[in-house]
Amino acid sequence: MQINKEKLQKNLDEKWKAVHCPYCNDHKWTVDPTIMTLVEVEENKQITLGGKFQPLVAVTCRCCGNVALVNTLILDCIDEKEYKEVIYLIRQTKTSKIILRIYQKWKMIQNF
Ligand SMILES: [Zn+2]
Repeated sequence: MQINKEKLQKNLDEKWKAVHCPYCNDHKWTVDPTIMTLVEVEENKQITLGGKFQPLVAVTCRCCGNVALVNTLILDCIDEKEYKEVIYLIRQTKTSKIILRIYQKWKMIQNF
């Protein structure tokens, strides 16, 4: 998925120039223009890949490393049509559902 890096930087420069980090109060941020998304953990402790998709970029405080996730759709730096195509593809991909039992894995590791 393509991101308009110039528009991303321009919008961040406008909207984040006065934003201070809540942890160290610095105001120098850097952005990684790679689109990422969060993964949903269900009540039964399963992770579903291919679920919800939020096109996020990581904005990092250059002083303390605090990371804020910013939605690129809201910043208007991705193509909305392409975003909807990705959502459609995710919903159509049946093989993308992978189940991980986090709690059981963690317990297994603790028992060693
Ligand atoms: Zn900070």
